Amino acid sequence: MIKNVTVVGAGTMGNGIAHVFAMNGFQVNLVDISQPALDKAIKTITKNLDRMVKKERITSDEKNNTLANLTTYTSSAEAVKDADLVVEAATENIDLKLKIFKQLDELSPAKAILASNTSSISITKIASVTQRPEKVIGMHFMNPVPVMKLVEIIRGYSTTDEVTNIIMDLSRTLKKVPVEVNDYPGFVANRILLPMINEAISALFEGVAGVEEIDTVMKLGMAHPMGPLRLADFIGLDVCLAILNVLHQGFGNPKYAPCPLLVNMVTAGKLGQKSGEGFYRYIPGTRDFEVSDVFKK
Ligand code: NAD
Repeated sequence: MIKNVTVVGAGTMGNGIAHVFAMNGFQVNLVDISQPALDKAIKTITKNLDRMVKKERITSDEKNNTLANLTTYTSSAEAVKDADLVVEAATENIDLKLKIFKQLDELSPAKAILASNTSSISITKIASVTQRPEKVIGMHFMNPVPVMKLVEIIRGYSTTDEVTNIIMDLSRTLKKVPVEVNDYPGFVANRILLPMINEAISALFEGVAGVEEIDTVMKLGMAHPMGPLRLADFIGLDVCLAILNVLHQGFGNPKYAPCPLLVNMVTAGKLGQKSGEGFYRYIPGTRDFEVSDVFKK
């Protein structure tokens, strides 16, 4: 029975995952090495809960109970000692994830299930650094977590049926729709999404059309709620690049090679919405954005 959940990483995804578990009555320990990231996460969760109260989707008591279910930590040792489940949502970097999972395996109770929210890194690889590969699984939430229904559940090579079923049921308890997939590069969601985003960046790079034109074609022509360049900014350009690198290396197929423009933007620190600029520039303190100066005609 899962009651205590530790979320490792309090960035874009970690705060949403913590929000959803806490709102559904789980005790959540949220860990990040950065205190400012934890402060920002609690601020974001509070703001999102306030919006839900305003829209009458939850009551003020539910908001207060959700916040009361959350505790923050800057180190894992204390945060995982009573965990039934750990959901890791730290930066998308394989060496970092392997280090985190080795440590989580040492620090967590033997019964605990260790899940990763990785967008693309092999669950089998992550499981291989633990003494409990049968209890390691992918729990890939979508951004923004409180809004998006899907959770892609990734079975590693050794993940048992029992653990998979527990996590599928748990996702339903969170009022999400779980879909079970196998552990191959990019799983399903990003194997299909990232080549599309990369192609949109290539179209911009080659001067086929501008930022707004590309996004408008996909929004109005394909009924996508967001164009691919705006979506890339929303996901984080560093995250997009990391996923494309995994697809490229994992399949050895040049069709997944990241567009040089994406590589340049990440190198220049233009990471999309979270850094204030990517294909669009985000106006601080508002929900407004406009095409970045570099891409204006
Ligand atoms: P992010 O950069 O917003 O946040 C990552 C957080 O991890 C940072 O706050 C950082 O301080 C923290 N961190 C780094 N090392 C840590 C450690 N050792 N212990 C604890 N915390 C640590 O990244 P994100 O976009 O939230 O992505 C997190 C994970 O979720 C990645 O694996 C990513 O692939 C995946 N994911 C991202 C999206 C998306 O749209 N951004 C969607 C689905 C899945």
